[in-house]
Amino acid sequence: MAYRGRFAPSPTGPLHAGSLVAALASWLDARAHGGTWLVRIEDVDVPRCIADMGDHILSQLSAFGLTSDEKPLVQSQRGPAYQQALKSLITQGFAYRCHCSRKDILIALEALGQGPARHAERVYPGTCRDLMPETEPVSVQAAAAWRLRCYIDPTAIRWHDRRLAAQQQNVETAVGDFVLLRADGRATYQLAVVVDDADQGITHIVRGEDLADNTARQILLQRRLRFATPRYLHTPLVMGVDGEKLSKQNGAQALDTANPIAALNQAAAVLALSPSQAVHPGVALMAWVQEWRHLYNCNP
Ligand code: GLU
Repeated sequence: MAYRGRFAPSPTGPLHAGSLVAALASWLDARAHGGTWLVRIEDVDVPRCIADMGDHILSQLSAFGLTSDEKPLVQSQRGPAYQQALKSLITQGFAYRCHCSRKDILIALEALGQGPARHAERVYPGTCRDLMPETEPVSVQAAAAWRLRCYIDPTAIRWHDRRLAAQQQNVETAVGDFVLLRADGRATYQLAVVVDDADQGITHIVRGEDLADNTARQILLQRRLRFATPRYLHTPLVMGVDGEKLSKQNGAQALDTANPIAALNQAAAVLALSPSQAVHPGVALMAWVQEWRHLYNCNP
């Protein structure tokens, strides 16, 4: 199948040194396979997104020589596609309505002796799992979320990451029945990303390692929706001064698009690629495509 890859930034802030690593890696992987590279603007989490940031990111990317091979897909325009996928999950009995607030979940977990743990995923205790008939119509007005019924797959989801090797996660015990559509009618990242990757025919996902933990959930959803599972490669992260993933809060500087080689060289170093002396990004990128092909055994 023809290679199709993507870079999927959330327009919550400008591209920084960390996000450039994922952009560069996904672009190099697409080119090393002789494939197509797409940019998708993931503005599904509307309250966190900044107006016009998608266009700003696209112009930053083009300053680094990274331009989408097709018109970028914008998640805020994809509501009907997410509703349709959800409908299919409901019809198959894989999704149910959940009326729990955050507080309800905390109380239920405490009652089970599972108090909040720092940085740990809060596993949904299944309060609403058997409450409502699953055939209820999807209504954006009704203040209830929709969750995926995970327990049908009690065993771990296993997958191979091209950099991290063998991975596995039991979604039910690690995360629980996760939210697909929020009570206000907005799709969650998990649902949107799986539907978009399938609709765009994405064969290879290359993204930051902080997202690796979402992969099992996404594979489970792909199976429920009978979508093909792409190949995955999670790239190393750039860390901020506090040892957490780099973000605006912990020291990410604005990228200097006037000096693209310097920023690209920094990103290339994170990916274990040689520094480039080139003056133009295009020349540096072509040399890295060759290196990448050897590093990750890519065949055009
Ligand atoms: N929009 C996500 C982010 O910016 C990336 C999603 C993905 O690559 O799957 O963190």
